[in-house]
Parts: sequence; structure tokens; C-alpha cells
Amino acid sequence: RVFNFSAGPGALPLEVLEKAQKELVCYGDSGMSVMEMSHRSKPYDAIIKGAEAKLREIMNIPDNYKVLFLQGGASLQFAMIPLNLMRNSYKADYIESGMFASKALKEAQKFGKVNVVASSKADKYAYIPKVTKDQFDSEADYAYICANNTIYGTKYHEYPDTGNVPLVADMSSCILSEQVDVSRFGIIYAGAQKNLGPAGVTLVIIREDLVGHAKETVPSMLNYQLMVENESMYNTPPTYGIYMLKLMFEWIEAQGGVAALEKRNKEKAAVLYNYLDESKMFKGTANKEDRSLMNVTFVTGNEELDAKFVKEATAAGFVNLKGHRSVGGMRASIYNAMTLEGVQKLVEFMKKFESEN
Ligand code: PLP
Repeated sequence: RVFNFSAGPGALPLEVLEKAQKELVCYGDSGMSVMEMSHRSKPYDAIIKGAEAKLREIMNIPDNYKVLFLQGGASLQFAMIPLNLMRNSYKADYIESGMFASKALKEAQKFGKVNVVASSKADKYAYIPKVTKDQFDSEADYAYICANNTIYGTKYHEYPDTGNVPLVADMSSCILSEQVDVSRFGIIYAGAQKNLGPAGVTLVIIREDLVGHAKETVPSMLNYQLMVENESMYNTPPTYGIYMLKLMFEWIEAQGGVAALEKRNKEKAAVLYNYLDESKMFKGTANKEDRSLMNVTFVTGNEELDAKFVKEATAAGFVNLKGHRSVGGMRASIYNAMTLEGVQKLVEFMKKFESEN
């Protein structure tokens, strides 16, 4: 297998894939694949409940939060959040820290008044805008951030204080990469395909009091209350994807939990950033104090050299290092599944490339 630095869908731990492979044709004593199971069957019930229980454990999710396994990707949450949470003032505060935050706020504008509290757009989203509590509207129905900006390689190292206004966070590209105090958020959500499992599942963790406020006209599939009441089984859930999430949560536990992964992720990122800071050829593009632990963005400053690097890296088994099509350059996504060894080998390769070019 190659060293896969894809931003999404991202690499999965070999142990998880091998476990899935072993159980692919016949799961336990069920006599069938998980893919062939009725979502209402006993063995599947144990899988989905087991996934939720394990997640609650490793993420320390308080009892007053619901866990949902939905579909539609993170992008559907861009609409589902305003549709369910805009209910009193029909106002929401957004921090525009990247393309996905920008997409989210544009979607919310269809349903109510969006106040862009701060934006780093003018600086190509190279930093996380710092916002103080008094900059938020105390009447807003919620405040929204994108916790880790996959394309630009920035993340919040400290979450803003929004007072009593519920904070909603898109954690698609950083979920379970470091410890998070769930109680600080109204909603945490994540598309699965970066740090959790295969594409097709969207994880939503929602505080109970935020459920049940959607208008009658909101389509059933977009109503959190129906999803909660039916324990993510209002219709057929993405059964196999949820099973993969369960394997992933068990793997995280076996690694020593989120705290252990956080330590490893910080080590991994430091190896890469330290080299970028000393290199004469490569340069990190994100503001230093906002650097992501998951997506490391860098350039040489010369597009032809960037392309040569990506090509030679690919040939050497370091794949998917090309930056997002909107920004160019390079991006190494080092999600939970990427090993320290993988990052060290990449840096060795970069050093060799630097000395040869
Ligand atoms: N939010 C973030 C932070 C992302 O990185 C992405 C995808 O790359 C999305 C949202 C969109 O996710 P999806 O493709 O699941 O809709």
C-alpha cells in the first residue's frame, strides 16, 4: 500500500480495513455480510448501537447530546442547520474561515439573516479570524464555525466564546483528531470520509434542546427531531458505513483513545512543520499560529517545481499530495490513519527532492 495523503476520502488504518475484509462475507454467526443485513435486524441493531456507545465513550459525549448517523454529506448540514436552528430571531453569526464555511453561510442565507462576523477571505483564508465574545450577536439563533479548514490547512486552536448562543462546528476534517469538550458546542458534525470511515455517513452530535424546532414545512429527512425519534432509522441508514465507523471507533480505543491520537497527531504535524520552517525550498502557507494538525499546506513558490514534486512523490509512493484545485501547491493530509513513519518518510523524500533541485 502507498502512503496516502488524500484530503478526502482519506486513508483508513490497515487494521480497520483488514478487520472489515475478514468480516466482509460473513459477519459473526449471522451467516451474511453486514451489507446484506436488514437495518431492523438484531445483529445490525447491535452494530449501530455499539457504534454510538463507543463514540460516546471515546469522545466523552454528555448524556444531553444525541448522536445521529445521517446521509447527504457535510454539505447537507449546511442547509439542515439553519432549517432546524433558525427559529427565534432568524439570525445566525458565521465566521468565514474558508470555502466550506463560505458555502455553509451562503446556504444559511436562503433561510434567514446571516451576519458574517469575521472573514479571512481577503487573505486567501490563510488564517483563522479571531473573534471576541462581544462581536457575536446575543440574539442570534446560533453561531457557526468550521473547526478545521481542509483546503487552507488552518484550524481553531481555541474556540470562540459565544456566550449563550449555541456554537455549531463543522469538524469534518478534524473530528477525533484531538480531544474536544463537547459541552461547549450546540452541534458538532462531520462528513465521515476524512477521519472516520468511508463516504456516505454524516455524524451529527446535537444538544437535546436544539432538537424539535423545525417548521412544519421542513422536509422530514431534514428534520433533526424525526432523526432523533427514529434513532437515525427514519429510513434505511448507510448501514455499511456505520459499521465501518464502529470499527474505526474501536481502533481509536485500542490506540489509547483520542488523547493518545492527539499526542501522535501533534508529533506527526511537528515533523512536517519543523521541516517546512527550515527548508529553503518548501514553505508552509497557513498562518503559523493557526496551523492544522490534519491538513498541511505548502508551496515551493514555483508552479512547475510544485508539479515536478507531486509527480516524483507519486512515483515514490507518496500519493495525493496535490493541493486543492482552487489553491494549487501541495497539501499533505495526515489524518488519524497516517502513521508517524509515513510522515517521516515523506519528509525524507522532501529533503532529497530539495537537495536534488
Ligand atoms: N466541510 C469540510 C471542512 C470539508 O472538508 C468538506 C469536504 O471536503 C465538506 C464540509 C463537504 O463535505 P461533503 O463532501 O461530505 O459534503
